[in-house]
Amino acid sequence: MLLIVGAGFAGLSAALRARHLGVAVTVVAGRERAFDAPECLSLEGVRALHDCGLDARQLQLPPVREYISRWGESPMLSRAPPPGIPKNIMLGRVQLLRALRACATEEGVTFVEADELYRVLPTRQGLQLQFTGPVQELVLDASFAIDASGRAAVLARKLGVGRRTFDHLVAYGVRGPVHGLPEGVVHTFSVADGWVFAVSDSPGQAHVCFYTNGRLAGRVTEAKIMERVPYQIRSLMSDEDMWLASGVSAANASTSLLDVPGGTYWLACGDALQTVDPLSSSGITTALQQGAAAVSAAVASLSGNLEPMRAYWLESRAHFDSYVRNRNSFYGFGESAS
Ligand SMILES: Cc1cc2nc3c(=O)[nH]c(=O)nc-3n(C[C@H](O)[C@H](O)[C@H](O)COP(=O)(O)OP(=O)(O)OC[C@H]3O[C@@H](n4cnc5c(N)ncnc54)[C@H](O)[C@@H]3O)c2cc1C
Repeated sequence: MLLIVGAGFAGLSAALRARHLGVAVTVVAGRERAFDAPECLSLEGVRALHDCGLDARQLQLPPVREYISRWGESPMLSRAPPPGIPKNIMLGRVQLLRALRACATEEGVTFVEADELYRVLPTRQGLQLQFTGPVQELVLDASFAIDASGRAAVLARKLGVGRRTFDHLVAYGVRGPVHGLPEGVVHTFSVADGWVFAVSDSPGQAHVCFYTNGRLAGRVTEAKIMERVPYQIRSLMSDEDMWLASGVSAANASTSLLDVPGGTYWLACGDALQTVDPLSSSGITTALQQGAAAVSAAVASLSGNLEPMRAYWLESRAHFDSYVRNRNSFYGFGESAS
């Protein structure tokens, strides 16, 4: 049995590819709910969704009418966004995941719910994964397992694989009322210690994310972080107190990479394999593409052809290296990634 750990973008794309190849597949889905946020998806991402059998246009989401980027002088962001960034579309994260999961269910993918992966044992023909479950333990034998569990990379970690982290970017998100920001506008701008991403996805309402270096953020409260950028933030908000009271959520947004992308009977894909700066708007696209590619490589390896697996390793590494080069040149970091 092909086993996929994680029902995010990478896991669902992997499951759909498996079904398109006629392979039986079980997806272990975590029980926590995904946070909802408007996401930007490049046209490449829309194509990756299409490959999964999903037409983004049918989701009837508001199109991005305008994409405004305004970068001021900042130690972190002192340059204009690189030319040639593809035009993005806006999608609701939860809505997109629901649509993908519905496709997967229709294609005959089996889903099981689990909590913690507490043990991984090698077997003669693969791996045995042992999870705590909502009611009882779950013991699953896999001829091949795909780690699509996001940043947690639960399978890779259990197998003792390390992870290199390149920065300490943290995202603080709030949702609330805005004035002066029409619907369908994505607004990004730099501030002294990070950058701000604001999306007005319904009339008078916006989702605002403030990204900063986590080491710095650890020393100040969330409210103080908002105060550090009074001019930009206040210009977007009609009632600052309401915004701060509405609950600021924090998420790890650092760039990181697993030390190895896989091994005998397993591969990692999506955020489990590497995480990228949200400013690149490429995490979902990469997760969708890698999920599908990982399954193709896994299926080939099960019939004794290891070449696609090697190609997957090389391509995923080349993809990450190229992202790091772009990121370093964009932020003016020079050759060093950290
Ligand atoms: C603040 C922020 C904003 C972002 N904005 C954008 C954007 O605009 N555009 C874009 O393209 N990307 C964006 N990204 C990146 C994007 O969200 C990720 O790259 C993408 O979600 C990766 O998909 P994934 O399937 O690999 O991982 P995830 O989406 O993290 O999915 C992993 C899944 O595995 C499950 N899981 C974890 N542990 C277990 C377990 N033990 N058992 C079973 N299941 C488990 C989780 O519940 C989850 O459902 C953003 C990221 C952040 C942090």
